[in-house]
Amino acid sequence: IKKIAVLTSGGDSPGMNAAIRSVVRTCAYMKVDCVAVYRGYQGMIEGDFKPMDARSVNNIINKGGTILKSARCNDFRTPEGRKIAHDQLLKAGIDAFVVIGGDGSFTGAMIFNREYNFPVIGIPGTIDNDIFGTTFTLGFDTALNTVVECIDKIRDTASSHNRLFFVEVMGRDVGHIALNAGVGAGAEEILIPEENLGLDRLLESLKRSKESGKSSSIVIVAEGDKSGKNVFELKEYVEEHLPIYDVRVSVLGHMQRGGAPSCFDRVLASRMGVKAVEALLEGKTNLMVGIQDNQLTLTPINKAIKGHTKIDKELIRVSEIMTT
Ligand code: ATP
Repeated sequence: IKKIAVLTSGGDSPGMNAAIRSVVRTCAYMKVDCVAVYRGYQGMIEGDFKPMDARSVNNIINKGGTILKSARCNDFRTPEGRKIAHDQLLKAGIDAFVVIGGDGSFTGAMIFNREYNFPVIGIPGTIDNDIFGTTFTLGFDTALNTVVECIDKIRDTASSHNRLFFVEVMGRDVGHIALNAGVGAGAEEILIPEENLGLDRLLESLKRSKESGKSSSIVIVAEGDKSGKNVFELKEYVEEHLPIYDVRVSVLGHMQRGGAPSCFDRVLASRMGVKAVEALLEGKTNLMVGIQDNQLTLTPINKAIKGHTKIDKELIRVSEIMTT
C-alpha cells in the first residue's frame, strides 16, 4: 500500500480531527502518501482530494467537528455511485482508505470493500457510543463532559426555585450518554431505551424525593427512552399526577456534539489512527479499530455494525443506590 486516503462521514463528533491528524502523521512516519477526502463519500465521488503531509494537520488536535467536513451521500448507496468513487480513487492512485464515522459509514465501506476488494479500515466516531466492538467511540467522553457541565448549571437554577427539570440528552437506541452523565451529574432518575421502568415508578421516586427533603430534582431522558412520552409529555404527565412540582424542560440538542475534545478522546483518537494505518500496512481490511480493556482491537465491520455495546448493568445499580 502506497497511498492511503482518510475521510470523515456521517454525524461529526469531537475527536475526529485528532484522528485525522493521527492517520496523516502515521502515514508520514511510515513513509506512505496520505490524501484527505473532503465531505465524506460525496467528496470521494467528486474527487475532492488533497494531499496531506505531517504539517497539514498542525493545530487541529484541540478542535471539535471535522476539518474535512462531513456529508450524507445518497449516491454512495447505489452501485453506480460507488463505481464513480472507485474510479476517482484509482485515478488518484489511492489504494486504501480509513473512514472515521458511524455504522452507516461503515456499512458503505463494507459494501465498497466487497465490490472492489478495496482495503478499508473504520474508526468509530460518534458521541452515542452505539457501536459494537469498542467500549468507547470517539467523542463519547467529550459529550459526557459537556452534558455534565450543562446539568450542573441547570441544577443551580433548579435548586434556587425548587424545580424539577427533565433534561433530554442524545441517544436514540442506547442510553450510554444518559446513564453515565446522569450518574456523573447526580440525576434523580435516568430514563434510557434499554429499560422501561414505567411511569408509576417515576412518580413514586419523585414523590419520595420531595418527601425526603430534596430541594430540586433532575431527570435525564435519553431521546429514545421507552416510556412512550417525550420530555414535554413527561412534564405534563408529572404536573397532572404530582402537582407538588414546578416542572421545566431542557433539550440539550446539538451542543452535545460540539466543543474541544477531552484529553481522553484526543489520546484515543491518536491511538486509533496509528492502529488503523498499521492494520492497512499489515494487509488487513474490512475491520474497525476499537478499544476493549484498554487494548486496541480490530473487529470485522459486519459485526461492528450489527450490535451495540451493552448498557452497564452495574452502573444502573449504582445509579439506583445513589438516588436513595
Ligand atoms: P452517525 O450515525 O453518527 O450519524 P453514520 O456514519 O451512521 O454516522 P449515516 O448518515 O448513516 O451516518 O451514513 C453516512 C454515509 O454512509 C451515508 O450518507 C452514505 O453515503 C453511506 N452509507 C450509509 N449506509 C449505506 C449503505 N447501506 N450503503 C452504502 N453507503 C451507505
